[in-house]
Amino acid sequence: MDIQSQKRKSLAGLKPYVPGFQPDTDDFIKLNTNENPYPPSDRVLEALRALTPDQIRRYPDPLATELRKKIAGVYGLNADQVIVGNGSDEILRLIVTAFVDPGDRILTVYPTYSLFETLVEIGAGSLETIDLEEDYSLPDAVFETKGKIFFLANPNSPAGDFPADAVQKLCAAFTEIVVLDEAYVDFTETTGIPLLAKNPNLIVTRSFSKSFSLAGVRLGFGGASPEIISELMAVKDSYNLSALAQTAGLAALDDLASMEENTRRVVKTRELLCASLAELGFRVYPSAGNFVLAKCESVAEAESLHERLRERKILVRYFKERRLDDCLRITVGTDAEIQSLIEALKALKS
Ligand SMILES: *Cc1c(COP(=O)(O)O)cnc(C)c1O
Repeated sequence: MDIQSQKRKSLAGLKPYVPGFQPDTDDFIKLNTNENPYPPSDRVLEALRALTPDQIRRYPDPLATELRKKIAGVYGLNADQVIVGNGSDEILRLIVTAFVDPGDRILTVYPTYSLFETLVEIGAGSLETIDLEEDYSLPDAVFETKGKIFFLANPNSPAGDFPADAVQKLCAAFTEIVVLDEAYVDFTETTGIPLLAKNPNLIVTRSFSKSFSLAGVRLGFGGASPEIISELMAVKDSYNLSALAQTAGLAALDDLASMEENTRRVVKTRELLCASLAELGFRVYPSAGNFVLAKCESVAEAESLHERLRERKILVRYFKERRLDDCLRITVGTDAEIQSLIEALKALKS
């Protein structure tokens, strides 16, 4: 049987999402996938160790009731305004499953989180992207678009940070669903969650992977109107969130202080990283996340630095894409990791 001929026609040109490299050894300084350099709260590890054989033997609560209540309490929502998922990536996928018919026009900006494009392709939607301005700010054209869903990451990756009033303006201007991906929001101050109260078309997604140091657990949530949440719940797998992830999430939210302490440290190191990169001659875009986009002198320099850093066991992210192929995206690690990176860059650039 020819599998290619069996494939859905709409997947012919599918570009699968390419995650950053995950080495299988510990000898790398890993600054390529925006993981948190600090460990999660001790409470998370204690709670996971305290799981009983029955909790492992049985299926988890399919509605993750306790965790959703907890999230609702922390973020000022009702439990029926919250859905949890296997990473915020799953929430994004559920949004496409629930709301996108083949051919529907879906919008986002460029450059941004490339999973949006992959998910829209899988859903057979028709993606239209609006280029961010040269400095990665939001162009006025976004407020004049029409379509089924507008995906906006704020803070954006690999660069860009949009004011809350711009997000409100987009919710008012865009007649259908606006998805605000807040994977990095804990590293900054503005959040769109308060906007949920007056914008029934808004979905805010959050991740526990970055600020909470739980990327390996896979946990995220979506906040929206009860009507939207029930559509997303209708298309999810029964047991989309494992007992381990539910337990870890509850424990993490019991210790917000440790997450906040870690994010403060990351933000402090980020400022150090930005200053050192600027000193080395990179153009550094302001960052509101746990990463920095640094523009090199040329595509060749970016490619070469990426490769040569890797030879020195330092991983940074390189995107061979329009507008990004002369840049490196660098995750904010510990002070010591960033010190090593800067020293390596100094040596490579001299
Ligand atoms: C990391 C990231 C996510 C994915 O988060 P998970 O909760 O790990 O699935 C979503 N959106 C953006 C912009 C990200 O960078």
